[in-house]
Amino acid sequence: ETAGTVRTFDGHGRTADGHDVALLANVADPKAAAAAVEAGAEGVGLFRTEFCFLGRTEEPSVTEQVAAYRGVLDAFPGRKVVVRTLDAGADKPLPFVTADHEPNPALGIRGLRTAVGHPEVLERQLEAIAAAAAATEADVWVMAPMVATPDEAAHFVERCAAHGLNRAGVMIEIPAAALQSRFILAHATFASLGTNDLTQYTMAADRELAGLAELSTGWQPAVLALVEASCLGGAVNDRPVSVCGEAAGDPALAPVLVGLGVSSLSMTPRALADVAAVLAATSSEECARLARLALDQPSAAAARAAVRAELPILD
Ligand code: PEP
Ligand code: MG
Repeated sequence: ETAGTVRTFDGHGRTADGHDVALLANVADPKAAAAAVEAGAEGVGLFRTEFCFLGRTEEPSVTEQVAAYRGVLDAFPGRKVVVRTLDAGADKPLPFVTADHEPNPALGIRGLRTAVGHPEVLERQLEAIAAAAAATEADVWVMAPMVATPDEAAHFVERCAAHGLNRAGVMIEIPAAALQSRFILAHATFASLGTNDLTQYTMAADRELAGLAELSTGWQPAVLALVEASCLGGAVNDRPVSVCGEAAGDPALAPVLVGLGVSSLSMTPRALADVAAVLAATSSEECARLARLALDQPSAAAARAAVRAELPILD
């Protein structure tokens, strides 16, 4: 989207007034990890582990899992890597945890919900993540997808602790979780907003349907209000809230998210340089003003237009 100059990223995200905003990468395999390092990513904000196992009919052994996770972790010595536990179901079926037929797969047994029927799969995955973490220099954080309630968050954090994984967080990608974030973040040590699913569930618009693109955008003021609510829940517990959905990689939306209280952004590696450039040109105070401006619009189109008009760097 950004016109003209080719930008690079120096590996340290910050606002114009020097407020740190870690800029991290979303990865699914060692090849993407290498691309993320190349692009200057400060670490990984979302490691989608289910991609290591798509197409498998049986659960990979703990040994296989350790090798798969190390393929990403080893690329980030001394850096944060947020490993997401299996997000199977809906568009990503895995026969060893997901059901064959559900009338509404996006509303079905997916993400952390698969651990209710298959607790041993989660246990073995946490065992493998802990073993991989012990074998590498990366700073390993763990998070669960599709958390809906504080009880689910408490249970996940407890299972992580049993494996010695003390940086245990949750994704906020269900509106209920955003609205209950102050209770969820009393348990979880951090949260990461999955704005792709959060938008889908807020707008009741299938994220896969191109025809619903104008509903399926993080610019929707209702989605931004849930981002703000999530950040308030983080603030009362002194817990960081990040974004790892597509919204984080939109250079005009990134300062809005920071203004809403988000402390780090995780995105496709090729978006890092443009996001870094916009943040470096925008003060924290300006981010807060842009956030308020976007929240006060009646539509996604109006929010996008109002914010872009204030960001000449993107012209
Ligand atoms: C999201 O929902 O925004 C997210 C980052 O997770 P995924 O795209 O893997 O569902
Ligand atoms: Mg998601």
